[in-house]
Amino acid sequence: QKRIAAIPKAQYGGRHTVTMLPGGGIGLELSNYVREIFRYAGVPVDFEVIDIDPNSETNDDLDYAITSIKRNGVAIKGNIETKSEATGIISRNVALRNELDLFVNVLHCKSYPGVRSHHKDIDLIVVRQNTEGEYAMLEHESVRGVVESLKIITVEASERLSRFAFEYARKNGRKKVTTIHKANIMKLSDGCFLETSKRIAKEYPDIEHNNMIIDNTCMQLVAKPQQFDVLLTTNLYGSICTNVICGLVGGAGLYSGRNYGDHYAVFEPGTRNTGSSIAGKNICNPFAMLNASVDMLNHLGHTQHANAISTAIYETIVKDKIHTADLGGTASSTDCIQNVLKHLAAGQVSWKIA
Ligand code: ADP
Ligand code: MG
Repeated sequence: QKRIAAIPKAQYGGRHTVTMLPGGGIGLELSNYVREIFRYAGVPVDFEVIDIDPNSETNDDLDYAITSIKRNGVAIKGNIETKSEATGIISRNVALRNELDLFVNVLHCKSYPGVRSHHKDIDLIVVRQNTEGEYAMLEHESVRGVVESLKIITVEASERLSRFAFEYARKNGRKKVTTIHKANIMKLSDGCFLETSKRIAKEYPDIEHNNMIIDNTCMQLVAKPQQFDVLLTTNLYGSICTNVICGLVGGAGLYSGRNYGDHYAVFEPGTRNTGSSIAGKNICNPFAMLNASVDMLNHLGHTQHANAISTAIYETIVKDKIHTADLGGTASSTDCIQNVLKHLAAGQVSWKIA
């Protein structure tokens, strides 16, 4: 079995360089919190920070960012805005995923006890196709008033995504994979995705496999989300499912998302929001981005630092109940960060020189 997302070798002194794309809205403050915590905890990671101008009429910034990620192998990012309407300028987030062939997006949602939420005891994973489907961006007006949008589903992409899901399930002690689709209507495209997942499932007899139509999935997620284990789905349905799930367990500010291809890995907040209306007010929830930084450290093999930071996050959310407004609390973003730093100082950072 080929390894997903090759892990870059550390440089002198065990340090890694990681590309950081703060993006728009709350991205800048979230990125700064990550840097503050890494500095404090002595994390051996250096950031190459690249700002992408949302109004740029060229793709130069984006090309530079892609070159940087190809060099470093790993990136952490906020949501990048695309305001320019110049021709040839497409969503930078989509372009980045396509260019780096980040074919899978993984979101793990596990309820934090004591966080205000619609449901408790959720622990599920969405494995989402990340580079094709409705995001192929092949739209055109063939005749005036008639618009076509091509949804691309390939056996190749469906196969490697399915394999990723079953491998992930096996490695992480998961019992069941559910393929989410609309093959009753889109018989060819979603049919291809569903049939491919069924074929790959046969290679994993130890993992239960079933499937569910996207409409019913949305209803089941809202009614009884605990029934799900690993959801395997196409690009747009995956986006909808991850947002429904995050909405059920605490909103956009808590959970991280991971993007993998054969060569690169990119970490970000799970629901990919810009948060323009709450930017610069010290009110955004910093934990989705901090959790993304923990994912990144685990990917690089800096597990002690990852554990120290994720423990401090857990203590802050669950034990100290330092919650921002989106979770019904009154804490500011910096209150959350100060509390995380307090826990890091208090000795969970076992590797720190005493
Ligand atoms: P988009 O970028 O997709 O347009 P928004 O930025 O409007 O989405 O985000 C969707 C909602 O989630 C908004 O109400 C926003 O305030 C909220 N949100 C997103 N990220 C956070 C966060 N880190 N902390 C608190 N609220 C957040
Ligand atoms: Mg969005």
